[in-house]
Amino acid sequence: MIYKERSKPLELLQLEVLAHRTALSPKKQSDLVKLKKGFEGERLFDSMLESLSNKHLQVNDLLLTFNGTVFQIDTLLITQEKIFVYEVKNFHGEFIYEQEKFFKFPQQEIQNPLHQIARSTSLLTQLIRKLGFNWPIQSHVIFINKNFTLFNAPPNTSMILPTQIDSHLEYLQTIPSRLNHVHKRLAEKLIEQHLDQSPFQKKPAYSYEQVKKGILCGKCSSSIVKLEGRTVYCDDCGWNEPFADSVVRTVHDFVLLFPEMKITVSQTHEWCNSLISKKGISSALQKNFKRGGKKRWTYYY
Ligand SMILES: [Zn+2]
Repeated sequence: MIYKERSKPLELLQLEVLAHRTALSPKKQSDLVKLKKGFEGERLFDSMLESLSNKHLQVNDLLLTFNGTVFQIDTLLITQEKIFVYEVKNFHGEFIYEQEKFFKFPQQEIQNPLHQIARSTSLLTQLIRKLGFNWPIQSHVIFINKNFTLFNAPPNTSMILPTQIDSHLEYLQTIPSRLNHVHKRLAEKLIEQHLDQSPFQKKPAYSYEQVKKGILCGKCSSSIVKLEGRTVYCDDCGWNEPFADSVVRTVHDFVLLFPEMKITVSQTHEWCNSLISKKGISSALQKNFKRGGKKRWTYYY
């Protein structure tokens, strides 16, 4: 049972919008690909865990802190007798393991995920002890991509290589799984400790002026759209939708990129490149957002 859902990282959501509304720098482009791949890997592991029929509590995406040190856990499973912690890696291609170091073939060194998981496991052990639980933790780095090869992989580490995933899932299937309120309390306590935003949260750099305004097609993201009656049409792919839906989607992009700015009728009119009349925008906002302020100070949220 999933106790805490996984959501797309904010930075990924922002970069996805920016990809259609700015020319991404090569660095941002590679951040986007990396975050997307990481998220897809985590989702893939979620779908594998879904196939387990025995009971466990799954807590995803935890950002925790112990003694001032922030650490992150991709997937945590609470089972009857122990806690499983997973760091999910969606690497593909050839890698080499040498003297406790990881290299992407031939010699690009990357952070050793075994060190990463050892650190977060140690912090988690201390944190749950402080919360009043004293359960064993079994942690793993799981390489989820079947096109991942690791040369010189040492046996008996906490790594789960692609060819070992099935047997690990079978093993999970066999462990005792009677859960009670104590297991739930642990899950709830951990979720209470979860930080919404990392103090190290990276925000891609951009400004309102740099970003392309306008309604983008909901299917192909083209900006060549036109309004006919109450419908927005894409000139590139023919996709269409009621204009109010276009306004809502476009405002969501705005909120993601500029959470500090207020949504008002004239702001949205400008953000939608004046394609929709202020009257139309006002009615779309009223139907889909809450209203605050009065008269010319009215805003939506
Ligand atoms: Zn289109």
